[in-house]
Amino acid sequence: MNCLICKVREADFKGSHIIPHFIIAPGISDGSTTRDIEQSFRIDGTGSDFSFGRSVLPEALEDTLGRPVTDEEIENNEHHYVRDDIYCTQTEVQLSKFESLYNNQVSPPLLNAVTLSDDLKRVAHFFWLSIILRCSVVEFNGFKLAPDLEQEVSDEVNAVLAESESEIRQKCLAQPLTRNIFIGYTGEPEDFTRNFTLLHPNKKSPYLLIINNYVIIYDYSNNNQLTDILNEMGATTPVAYVTGTIIHHFSESDRNSIIRYCAAIGADQFIVTTKASFEEAFFHNRQSMPTPQQISDFFTELLHHDDSLLPTVRYDASRVKELIQKHSQPA
Ligand SMILES: [Zn+2]
Repeated sequence: MNCLICKVREADFKGSHIIPHFIIAPGISDGSTTRDIEQSFRIDGTGSDFSFGRSVLPEALEDTLGRPVTDEEIENNEHHYVRDDIYCTQTEVQLSKFESLYNNQVSPPLLNAVTLSDDLKRVAHFFWLSIILRCSVVEFNGFKLAPDLEQEVSDEVNAVLAESESEIRQKCLAQPLTRNIFIGYTGEPEDFTRNFTLLHPNKKSPYLLIINNYVIIYDYSNNNQLTDILNEMGATTPVAYVTGTIIHHFSESDRNSIIRYCAAIGADQFIVTTKASFEEAFFHNRQSMPTPQQISDFFTELLHHDDSLLPTVRYDASRVKELIQKHSQPA
């Protein structure tokens, strides 16, 4: 298979991060910034899934899971954000240079709420386009750009990738901006357990990606479209609208609203897909659709629980599957 970014060379690199480690790091466990001692959770339609870096201490995992980790889990551990054979080595090197450029020059002023220079705004613009592209080409958490747009973004990202940070910076400055991007920043979280990745499954115009303390809104064409989506998330800090790139600092209360918004979207996704899986299994086992009462019975057991059951256990994909089987068996 060819590299999903350059589309020219063989995709031979092992262990590529879809979302760079330093972006997802605040959402992992205790905020550790070291690779391989990371724990992260993902909730999607099939329930929660647990993934951990190779050197997480078993005791730390046990605390999170509420039970000892199994050998099989260690064996099957596939980091949520890592894939093999999606990029070629050259592209991987260029992407990592882009990450360093962003982390060295854009992250510090963002962290300190200092206004970015126009040059750095441009670097941020194309950096986030590269993340959007990386998520889209592997359909990360179901996120996919429209095909024409993916091609356009791919062309733009390939036009700025280069072998050195200074060269990438130069290319970003030379590359025209074609669509609008909003880069919202919520500041460093006080509580690292409240971080997550939500690539909105249905929003296409504009696209919405919430990755830890970043909110990325891409391809809106006017202030109303942007304001609507910010209102939907409950964000109230005034935004100064410009075309091209907007860098925005959210307030702490906006951050809390955004977290509630993500939790609601995640819960909706979970309920919809779990109900569909239950109906499918029920029909397969009993050749009829479940009654509303049968659906209700299934969800009652799944969602209402002994308080001692940790959420990581309650929504574990294998528990969801077990309950689907139990409630779809012929009476
Ligand atoms: Zn490549």
